[in-house]
Amino acid sequence: MTQLTPQLRYLPNAQQQALWLENVSIQQLASQVATPFYCYSKAALLNNIHACKAAFEPENIHIHYAMKANSNLSLLRIVAEQGLGVDIVSIGEMHRALSAGFDAQDIVFSGVGKTTAELTAAVLAGVGQFNLESKEELAVLITIANKHQQLVSTLIRVNPEITVDTHKNITTGAKGNKFGVNFDDVLPMLVAAEHSPFLQVNGLAMHIGSQIHTTAPYLDAIAKIQTLISELKTQGYTLTQLDLGGGFGVQYKDHQMLTSNTGGSESDYLTFNDFSNAITSALADWQGRISIEPGRSLVADIGVMVSEITYIKESQPTSFIVLDAAMNDLMRPALYQATHALIPVQLPLQEQVPSTAQLNSYDVVGPICESTDTFAKSAQLPNDLAAGDLMCFLYTGAYCAVMSNSYNSRPIAAELLVDDDQAYVIRQAITQENLTAFEQHTALKLL
Ligand SMILES: *Cc1c(COP(=O)(O)O)cnc(C)c1O
Repeated sequence: MTQLTPQLRYLPNAQQQALWLENVSIQQLASQVATPFYCYSKAALLNNIHACKAAFEPENIHIHYAMKANSNLSLLRIVAEQGLGVDIVSIGEMHRALSAGFDAQDIVFSGVGKTTAELTAAVLAGVGQFNLESKEELAVLITIANKHQQLVSTLIRVNPEITVDTHKNITTGAKGNKFGVNFDDVLPMLVAAEHSPFLQVNGLAMHIGSQIHTTAPYLDAIAKIQTLISELKTQGYTLTQLDLGGGFGVQYKDHQMLTSNTGGSESDYLTFNDFSNAITSALADWQGRISIEPGRSLVADIGVMVSEITYIKESQPTSFIVLDAAMNDLMRPALYQATHALIPVQLPLQEQVPSTAQLNSYDVVGPICESTDTFAKSAQLPNDLAAGDLMCFLYTGAYCAVMSNSYNSRPIAAELLVDDDQAYVIRQAITQENLTAFEQHTALKLL
């Protein structure tokens, strides 16, 4: 069990064993940077990118990284250098993409609420593809394209009305979701777009949810969309592009991983190749362009979050591990009952897999004044843990640092990147001084 996640492992020394990410000791990082902090492995990120490219690019499927999963500029730069495009959902993300080195042409702009200001800025920057989410948005974009006499390439995001077996908060293609348009709305939108010499509708897009572990929902959605495309063809509209979105699931082992591998066996989880094979065979007859927008699957397993134990609070009926990390640093458990494997940074030499006698049951919580500030219930962790010990949350590369906030006036955690035996700060902590810099002791008069 030495290899925990890609590039993360326990290494023994004379007294104990301790966690290393690539060739950097987590403990040594913690002696330099205040906890909690995030730390990512460059090698793990590159491995994911290479695996994704190897699965999809030979099939001529274009990859756009959905940067909302992790938009740190240093990581984006690596993604851009590897030649991927990027999927954005706000103008802030566009600025990140451009400054990280992505070509505007390789940007896909998704999202249900793009404002006139955002659409205008993106058109003027030359963003390559707009995924439209409503006829109302189409009307606004036509006005902008005509006014600036700029060619604008769009796809219409449809809602394929697919139910997906994932947490209800991360389904996006079911009936009644706010995302995409109904199939019936596509034809009127194509008709409306004909009035603009500048706006082109080239195809259809979908994104059916996140953390999906089977190919079936993709295949169902693709079949429905193909039927729609054939019908539109009989009406005289030929569409040549398909964007299938992201959502490929990853394996989050839970907090019991020290004692058993309860996250399911590796073979229960699909790889990029599995998704690619399924998509390619479903679209064997398709002549046009295909693209995808993976987010989580490229970054979830590349990072850890490191935290220090503030107290071991012994009480009845529950004992608590109170960490210095909280829901503001890592929101997924509070937001969608996600579990992240949690392991000690140091273990005694003999305790590679502690026996049950050496384990205690703890609820693991943060210091924030909310009951949802709970990372794990009844976690089985070594009974010799003590205040001051370091703990590591695994699989915290996606939808973690990007969601951090300053609730309870807490600082925003730093992000680090390791590359072999080197470590870099890729986001400094946002401190109290930074956070209050925009507040006034004496109110600024506005009106
Ligand atoms: C979030 C999102 C993605 C990425 O989803 P993952 O589950 O992280 O792969 C892709 N496309 C769109 C439109 C999204 O909103």
